[in-house]
Amino acid sequence: MQHSRHSKPSRCPHQPPCPTPDRPDREAARTIAWHPEQGWSLLCNGVVLFDDNGQLLPDGRTVPPHHAPRHRVPAAA
Ligand SMILES: [Zn+2]
Repeated sequence: MQHSRHSKPSRCPHQPPCPTPDRPDREAARTIAWHPEQGWSLLCNGVVLFDDNGQLLPDGRTVPPHHAPRHRVPAAA
């Protein structure tokens, strides 16, 4: 098991596993960091999800907002 600091954040501890960033349902991944004051959330699969549903993918691509905003909340225990 390798643990490089450059490894992609694709090793998901969740069951069932979160969708990978290249999946259309990538935003269904668990929220692992939530910054409402800054308007973005970091998902388990490395996607940064903005308040307007725009996304920044781990490979640097951006996805424009594609549907109506909805509130995300930190994953409840
Ligand atoms: Zn996960």
